[in-house]
Amino acid sequence: MMIVSSRRDIIEYCLSFPGAYEDYPFDDIIDAGAWTVMRHRANKKGFAHIFERNGSVCVNLKCEPLRADFLRRVYEGITPAYHMNKEHWNTLVIGGVPDDELRRLIAHSYDLTKPKPKRARNARLMDIHDRLLARYGDPHWWPAETPYEVIVGAVLTQNTAWGSVTKAIANFGELSPEHVLAMTHGELADVVRPAGFFNQKAGYLQTVTRWYAQYGFSVHAVRKLPHDRVREELLSLKGVGRETADSIMLYAFGFPSFVVDAYTMRLVRRLPLPAGKNYEAVKSFFEQNLDCDVELFNRYHALIVINGNRHCRKEPKCDGCPLLELCGTGRQKEQSRLISKRDQSFSGKAQYGR
Ligand code: SF4
Repeated sequence: MMIVSSRRDIIEYCLSFPGAYEDYPFDDIIDAGAWTVMRHRANKKGFAHIFERNGSVCVNLKCEPLRADFLRRVYEGITPAYHMNKEHWNTLVIGGVPDDELRRLIAHSYDLTKPKPKRARNARLMDIHDRLLARYGDPHWWPAETPYEVIVGAVLTQNTAWGSVTKAIANFGELSPEHVLAMTHGELADVVRPAGFFNQKAGYLQTVTRWYAQYGFSVHAVRKLPHDRVREELLSLKGVGRETADSIMLYAFGFPSFVVDAYTMRLVRRLPLPAGKNYEAVKSFFEQNLDCDVELFNRYHALIVINGNRHCRKEPKCDGCPLLELCGTGRQKEQSRLISKRDQSFSGKAQYGR
């Protein structure tokens, strides 16, 4: 195992923990004087704050106070934290603490700051998910061969049925960002014509592809960035709205970003769920009440779309819907149907009796 001896080594070691990312919240220029904060993607809490002081690389780590008290006596390189709470945080000078102890303490700090499991915090949401899953199975979304194809699909599907998107994607022949950037606007518009709004969508595709080019078309490079920054950058692009940005975040780059669409809004309204009425409120309701799990977010959104297509349409087909038992609107419709059936049979009997 490599010895952790430099700032970069610590960063790379921290990045090996699930959902970790590096952030530079205090510095515009990332140089030796900058503070690197290693955070959990799920709750954005920092678990390792790396900086340089008096010519040494240091890292602030969270630690149980009793354990910290013992370690401070054993190692000169561990002291109450510089610039942070001194009871719970410690500064470790790299080189002043054995490598295996340093790794253990990084893992300990990671565990102390990671999000607490939301055990059954929203059993209802999981009940909905489980019923949909039992009915439709795991859809294994998104239907695409590569992350870039997800990006293209997410842009082209705006205001268009998926069948038209697949025709447009098939028109590309070879679908790569390099190929798209080499095309003129007119050529691109011709290719994406089946998806509708082709002139606009060709422009949107060029814009999002140029954005991706900044990161060398590398999923890995994008995934290293903070979640919020990627979302903000995507939302700043012309033609990328919230649903498109979150679809790209989740399905192309694997960020835990819940996607909300018209089917989700409709389901929330009809069940109902106390999720609020606008996109951001509904998104954060799902994100806060489900475990932060990319696979779960991925599957959940796909299942809502499938049920929305088959049952929860504009005019709902509640008969046979897997959510009927949980759904206020569905139960109300069922009751009205039974009452009207009873009334019909009653009026039939009355006529017969006359
Ligand atoms: S029961 Fe009806 S209203 Fe409720 S989710 Fe199913 S289709 Fe939609």
